[in-house]
Amino acid sequence: MKKIAVYPGSFDPITNGHIDIITRALRMFDELIVLVAYNPAKTSLFTVEERMALIRDVLGRDEQRLHVDCSAGLLVDYVRSRGANVILRGLRAVSDFEYEFQMALINRRLNRDVETVFLMTGYQWFYTSSNLIKEAASLGGSVEGLVPDAVLARLQAKYNHQK
Ligand code: ADP
Repeated sequence: MKKIAVYPGSFDPITNGHIDIITRALRMFDELIVLVAYNPAKTSLFTVEERMALIRDVLGRDEQRLHVDCSAGLLVDYVRSRGANVILRGLRAVSDFEYEFQMALINRRLNRDVETVFLMTGYQWFYTSSNLIKEAASLGGSVEGLVPDAVLARLQAKYNHQK
């Protein structure tokens, strides 16, 4: 049986921290679905389509085992609909832990066949979050090295801080 994992998140936008988790997960699973999980009531900087396009751009279209999708529904239902049984999440500081623990427990209650698997962040990406990156970029700060070049250019365009 194929080991298929779903990696859900906002990815608003994708960062080098996300890419580190994705690259490592591809060594553990046969297939990985990066899922832009969105709430239509929440505002975001990039639209769902823009976020998916950026993920596809930076991860290359050559990796056949990687898929990009979006969903606004219940995560465990999505996971089962794709024939997967693992939810993949990345962990940074201790502050991530409590929320992630709650999510893992509720998802397990909702579907006992779905397991959440955590990968520890690479130490370079310990403080990298999409929110901090947006905040810095919006004020004209350089986030070079924290996001892929394609994302950097899109952030600069959004915030009008072109060099
Ligand atoms: P963010 O918290 O940056 O807005 P997302 O909601 O897109 O991120 O996060 C999706 C998943 O990726 C979550 O499990 C989150 O903990 C993980 N993640 C985000 N940034 C990093 C990082 N720098 N290193 C490891 N995992 C990360």
